Amino acid sequence: MNILAINPWIYDFAAYDFWLKPYGFLVILSYLKQKKANVSYIDCLEEKLTSATFGRGKYLNEIIEKPKMFDSIPRYFKRYGISLDKFREKIRDKKPDYILITSSMTYWYPGIIEAANILKKEFPGIKIVLGGTYATLCKDHAKLNSGCDFVFGNEELGDFFKLFGIEYDFEKLYATLPEYDDFYKTLDYIVFRTSWGCPFNCNYCAIKKLFPDFFRLPEDKVINFIKKYAAGGMKDFVLYDDAFFYEPEYAKRILRAINELKLNINFHTPNALHLRFLDEEMAALLKNSGFVNPHFGLETLDSSLQKLWGDKVNRDDLVKGLNLLKNSGFKNGGVSVYLLLGFPRQNLEDLRKDVEFLNSLGARVSLAEFSPVPGTKLFEEYPPEFKEPLLHNNSIFGFFQQDKIRDFWEIKNFVRKLNKKL
Ligand code: SF4
Repeated sequence: MNILAINPWIYDFAAYDFWLKPYGFLVILSYLKQKKANVSYIDCLEEKLTSATFGRGKYLNEIIEKPKMFDSIPRYFKRYGISLDKFREKIRDKKPDYILITSSMTYWYPGIIEAANILKKEFPGIKIVLGGTYATLCKDHAKLNSGCDFVFGNEELGDFFKLFGIEYDFEKLYATLPEYDDFYKTLDYIVFRTSWGCPFNCNYCAIKKLFPDFFRLPEDKVINFIKKYAAGGMKDFVLYDDAFFYEPEYAKRILRAINELKLNINFHTPNALHLRFLDEEMAALLKNSGFVNPHFGLETLDSSLQKLWGDKVNRDDLVKGLNLLKNSGFKNGGVSVYLLLGFPRQNLEDLRKDVEFLNSLGARVSLAEFSPVPGTKLFEEYPPEFKEPLLHNNSIFGFFQQDKIRDFWEIKNFVRKLNKKL
């Protein structure tokens, strides 16, 4: 069976390769290959315009017409990734029995529609199957608008594999790590996970909808995977776990093994780590294994918002955790902490104080801009027009709080200034 698999373009006001790979899709494709499917893969985001530190960089991009509802927003709207002509050229010699398209951010769905339109013209009669985050969180919208013949949410993987007559083994699938060499000619970094899901339940996060359980990969598999790519010269490894430190002994066993191997590689953690689970040994393991500017979750120091948002970390955890990191050798500015910006009932004066406090402790602040995510408890508070996925975009969510735009801009500048001082 020939499968043509597509990671489509990003359609947005802004996009940058902050270590973005369609990880779940690559796991599924690796599993399909193990089951003898013949997979041909096109990543519309594979080529970059620039190469910056640690494998990140600018995507190729082209200014395109803005969706009508964004007419009043004074910014360019772009398609990020290879040109449409290049895409047509890449698919020309393919002979698929099925086409798979993956999806990530819900508001990037115009890229899926574009891909489906082109693919339908080139391969009339061939079924197109859509999966991924948008398909899971906005299934009705995807069924109506994507132009794909089948839309499967993550919870329907059994039906997805049945379509191809392939056995679905939950444990085997989720214990699979991607065979990157089968899909990419060149790689600037490796994305990986040691677990799926998260035992917490923050009410702005859709993780429970995307993966309701918590599943750990066998440690030896993870260690061998890192060893293999490090031996091939890979330097940057990006850990995408949602709860790597949960049950800290597991994380420590992996990190101890990595330390012993002396691989001289970097680890990056764009998904936050949990400060509450830090102890002296964990902090030292992070430092000695090559974690660069590890990111930790905090979101706010306002205790009522902490309760509302999931109550993962409090002020004491923060101070204790940052001290442990400092004692293990992370310098001022060597660690980042996420704060959430743009939550509708948020007091921005309090946020400013949180930024100052973190700065006084020597931590960089990373502002995560809030946007409503379908499938979360908080999403229920939003009016029906937010069923339109384009409105989930955190780049423009601030524009719907017109009175606050200037405050948002000021606080971003304030953070930039304080971070620079560290
Ligand atoms: S925000 Fe992070 S900690 Fe909270 S539920 Fe989501 S993944 Fe888990």
